Amino acid sequence: MKFQDLQQLNAHYADELKKVASEVIDSGWYLQGKRVAAFENRLSDYLGCRYTVSVGNGLDALRLIFKAYLEIGTMRPGDEIIVPANTFIATVLAITDNQLKPVFVDPDIQTFNLDMEKVEMNITERTRAIVVVHLYGRCCWNEKLKQLAKKYNLRIIEDNAQAIGAVSRVEGFNGTYKTGTLGDAAGISFYPAKNLGALGDAGAVTTNDPKLAKVIRALANYGSAEKYISVYHGLNSRMDELQAAFLSVKLKYLDEENRARRQIALWYDTYLNHPDIIKPCVECSEDHVWHQYVIRTTRREELRSYLERQGIPTVIHYPVPPHKQVCYHQYKDLDLPVSVLLGREVLSLPISPVITESDVIEISSCIARF
Ligand SMILES: *Cc1c(COP(=O)(O)O)cnc(C)c1O
Repeated sequence: MKFQDLQQLNAHYADELKKVASEVIDSGWYLQGKRVAAFENRLSDYLGCRYTVSVGNGLDALRLIFKAYLEIGTMRPGDEIIVPANTFIATVLAITDNQLKPVFVDPDIQTFNLDMEKVEMNITERTRAIVVVHLYGRCCWNEKLKQLAKKYNLRIIEDNAQAIGAVSRVEGFNGTYKTGTLGDAAGISFYPAKNLGALGDAGAVTTNDPKLAKVIRALANYGSAEKYISVYHGLNSRMDELQAAFLSVKLKYLDEENRARRQIALWYDTYLNHPDIIKPCVECSEDHVWHQYVIRTTRREELRSYLERQGIPTVIHYPVPPHKQVCYHQYKDLDLPVSVLLGREVLSLPISPVITESDVIEISSCIARF
């Protein structure tokens, strides 16, 4: 068993992928062409947002959002950005890369996501934005967050790298809203192992803000909206035609694959039982797309090597929280006990659309003997 078998996953649509790849090769057009434009439109339609700007990867998507806000004047270097302490390092890199200051907030231990109760006490007059990370695929959102943003005039930026396709119910409107359309701007990653994975690096920004979309599109293309006319100190971060063509194929299967992940989470919930293991809560179905199935145990290292000996691979997302990383040594003494505890106790079990009920039964009965 592999933790995530991308070969087996992509074999499902290998014929379609090979067909579009040869179309791109034969077209002679490899960047900023009609396949990228078509994918951007498809993604905007799928999510229900006005603009999708494709970029090189998920970290760039997030970096470019902050960079654009600096260009527009919404933010200035040294401004504070509230960010969950329990996240992948890229969320924080996007902030510090723009000379902004991360203000870490501990997560809720049940959801692993930003603890909404702790946000307001961390707002100061330098605060300009709140970043929400829909960690492991679980939507992190509530009405209170929107009200806080309004009260203090803050932007809400979603790190939607792990939750594409998750749906949140926003009160006061008819219908439902997907992650990536809830805040002011969102970054998505199409890293191969994400729920919608390319066959290489790719990412996108989604937003309803026309000005922001325009600035990001220019910034990602050397800072030029018009060829050889440079308005901003930009960078080169573009999705290529090949990845866009692959992603258009795979987008068609995303909902089906997210349903499969949800089913696997339900199977784990049914079959997995051990006194030393805390399972993730599975009650709020539509708002979780199960990028990872993460359990907690105080006996993690022991369990991990036991499972490895049985041929069951596991991964730790993430063993060291950002504020304890060498590159952020200035934050190492911050008091963020929940993040540190999660760093010691979390363990991700295999979950991907190719995992079957019998795989889950096998893993669960193996754990029952631990
Ligand atoms: C994967 C990921 C990123 C970065 O995306 P890349 O495409 O790998 O640059 C950012 N944030 C989170 C939460 C991620 O999981």
